[in-house]
Amino acid sequence: MFRFDAVKADGVTAIKAAVKNTLREKYADKLPKDKSAPILIKPNLNSNMNALTGNTTDLRLLAAVLEFLKETGYTNIAMGEGTNSGFYRSGINVISRLKVDSLARHYGVKALDLNYSERVEIPFENGVKASVAKEVLEAALLINMPKMKTHFEVGMSVCLKNLIGTLVGQENKKKTHLSLSSNILNINKAVKPHLHIVDGLMAMEGLGPTRGTPLKTGVILFGDDPYLIDMMVAKLATFDYAKVKTLAEAERRGIITGAHKKFHDEYQFGDLFRFEPPKPGPIAAFIHNPKRQKYFLAIRNTAFFNAVCSTNIVGKLLFLTGLRQDVFIDDELELEKLAADTSKCGDCPKKCADYCPVDLDLPAALNAEAATKCINCMYCYCVCPNGAIEFSGKAGFLDEQMRQYGQIIRRIA
Ligand code: SF4
Ligand code: SF4
Repeated sequence: MFRFDAVKADGVTAIKAAVKNTLREKYADKLPKDKSAPILIKPNLNSNMNALTGNTTDLRLLAAVLEFLKETGYTNIAMGEGTNSGFYRSGINVISRLKVDSLARHYGVKALDLNYSERVEIPFENGVKASVAKEVLEAALLINMPKMKTHFEVGMSVCLKNLIGTLVGQENKKKTHLSLSSNILNINKAVKPHLHIVDGLMAMEGLGPTRGTPLKTGVILFGDDPYLIDMMVAKLATFDYAKVKTLAEAERRGIITGAHKKFHDEYQFGDLFRFEPPKPGPIAAFIHNPKRQKYFLAIRNTAFFNAVCSTNIVGKLLFLTGLRQDVFIDDELELEKLAADTSKCGDCPKKCADYCPVDLDLPAALNAEAATKCINCMYCYCVCPNGAIEFSGKAGFLDEQMRQYGQIIRRIA
């Protein structure tokens, strides 16, 4: 019998209520009896682009799960991710840029970079061994919280692919690419989350996993079978699940059964979304063609290749040709103060308040004592349609995020 739920919610209050109710009513049996047992939440913190760009797990969803666990009495909670190789290699702290560490402090839980964890070896294809973080195997409750998004190499990135972030460091992540879909399934054979909560609030279509377009679905999916959930996400996005490479490989291995297909075929979502599929540009498509990809993989992540690609000019060229999806900007966001000019608000339905993960009474709270509880996530600033939220300080890497996504976020939020 499959466990699967899809709920729709808009705004932080509705999101928190939907998550808490669903967990309490449908998934309470997943909770450990011992209130001090280790609980690990594994979000998708793939890049320093915040959740509103469709890239990473929404802080409002993480906050909802943390509140539920804290209210239920759990005391040993952590959020952990082994962030993307490029950022790791560039020494950029994605967990900090996304304010996951600030959210952790707000709720009195831990934030871990799994790239520095103790390693446990697991088998990959052709006798290769890779290492996952010990914490993911030792958690009494492991909650996988992927983003719903397209992926130019495998089709879609949801529950199955999100577990690549449980691998320790770049040297282990690069081994996945030796046989991408098969090794993603190998990780899922070793690392088995008890619960999956998929963030489709602001999903990504098109050239994912980093350079696609945000698409607001407002959907949150829950379940305990990652194969079924990934099939259901494909259905929700109007994708043929058999064309998602990880699911095609799971079907070939016999992991996807007739029962999975029956559930997938019979389940009725309230609304379906037509996601634009990921279409890489001509150079990326040429290089990532299965016939040629092995030559690229032979040099990718070598010290020489990394050194050349770390230069500004080559980095920009790779980004322009679509061979690289991320921009690695050294400059941090240095925020001195956020303030709201409420004379500009007009009849705005308080979008800022809908997006504040820590429930501040915005916009008024920005100009009040309550602003000390702000975790500086900048969601309110990103969604404000009237430019009423101003900040003093240096935008740093946020400039690039707003250049690529600012207009669309303000339009769809
Ligand atoms: S989103 Fe901007 S315009 Fe709307 S209430 Fe908040 S500060 Fe005012
Ligand atoms: S006030 Fe704005 S920046 Fe501060 S936590 Fe809320 S949404 Fe984030």
